[in-house]
Amino acid sequence: QREEITYFGAGPALLPTPVLQTAAQALVNYNGTGLGLAEHSHRSKIAEDVLNTAKADLATYLDIPDDYEVLFMQGGGSGEFSATVYNMVGIWVEKRKQKILKELGITNGKDISEDVIATELRKAVEEELKIDYLVTGSWSLKASQEAARLLGPEHVNIATDARKINDGKFGKIPEEKSWNLSRNPAMVYYCDNETVDGVEFPGFPEVLKSNGQDEEPIVVADMSSNILSRRIPVKNFSLIFFGAQKNLGCTGVTVVIIKKSLLPPTVATPSPSLMRKLGLPIGPIVLSYETIAKNNSLYNTLSIFDVYIAGQVLKSLLKTFSDKVDGQQAIAEKKANLIYAALDAHSNVYKVVSDKSARSRMNICFRVTKSQDTNESEKQFIAGAEKIGLTGLKGHRSVGGIRASNYNSISLEGAEKLAAFINSFAET
Ligand code: PMP
Repeated sequence: QREEITYFGAGPALLPTPVLQTAAQALVNYNGTGLGLAEHSHRSKIAEDVLNTAKADLATYLDIPDDYEVLFMQGGGSGEFSATVYNMVGIWVEKRKQKILKELGITNGKDISEDVIATELRKAVEEELKIDYLVTGSWSLKASQEAARLLGPEHVNIATDARKINDGKFGKIPEEKSWNLSRNPAMVYYCDNETVDGVEFPGFPEVLKSNGQDEEPIVVADMSSNILSRRIPVKNFSLIFFGAQKNLGCTGVTVVIIKKSLLPPTVATPSPSLMRKLGLPIGPIVLSYETIAKNNSLYNTLSIFDVYIAGQVLKSLLKTFSDKVDGQQAIAEKKANLIYAALDAHSNVYKVVSDKSARSRMNICFRVTKSQDTNESEKQFIAGAEKIGLTGLKGHRSVGGIRASNYNSISLEGAEKLAAFINSFAET
């Protein structure tokens, strides 16, 4: 029975039962229309309302300032690894182009041939185009590898690699002063919460804050696995993205929160012919932020049903927490503290993977070292947990161990039950 299970899977994750019940009804017959939401046209008024309500509720819950746009996209977090590269490189090129035109005293771009601009820009691309990645776990590593695949490794700067300070393993975040950041990179990219490795940034990095001297830093963050669980200083970011399938809803939609000043009319997308002349990649149109923004996320067929589920999750969060995300944050911390406290109380039996300074509140990764044979101890742990309805605890296949994903849908009781099992397994 559903009520007997607390599912700690890392994503897709548990969804609140009332949301699923409402969605099940909407799937068959939405608001008495005789048609389900997965059948209604994405061009209908119904679809537009679902989309605009979800956008507005997300903005309310997270206090997203007015100078940001919310986009619903497809292609998942992995799609955004590519989309961020294509778009941010385009923006970098466009800004450089404007700078060159200004230096040449040209006010109208049409007064100069594209070949002349390309010659100037080619030098800048070769010498200066860099994207910085803070590699603190498997997902930021993957994103950096995608950038190197699309652009060539010479344009990718691994500003820090956390494995270097932790015996080749992820688990710590290197000190900011050790980061080797480029001057005016196309973006600085990081993953706020590393789902596989249980590493979360404690807060927004100081060195990435605008210092009012240089160009504004372009900061991009993957928040797929911790969005909606704590307050974020949105104004410090150029772009935040997240797949829906952990804290927001079900698999199928990816959300992008982007600063409007990175979109037209402030910045145009460079023409495909200019990008070709520069030897830079041109992204698929469905990954173009400009295109998706211009069409209010309906450039092509979007799964409105998935948006609806996300919208219902937001409605329920707004109803539960009058103080919005701050309320959820307090509970998320309480639940994580309970579980970590149980693990720490038995440090002879459990070893938390990440360092205390970078422990994720969302993905609690640990090893069970009760017997010499860790694998055997972990098998026993998982089997014992499943017997009492605590499921989905197996660590990611790439790292093994145990991972308890403590997303918003895990109730306080569910976390308490897990903490109690951690205690009792250690003590028997
Ligand atoms: N980023 C993070 C932090 C993730 O946890 C995941 C998926 N677990 C991804 C990106 C990739 O997402 P997707 O499977 O939607 O491509």
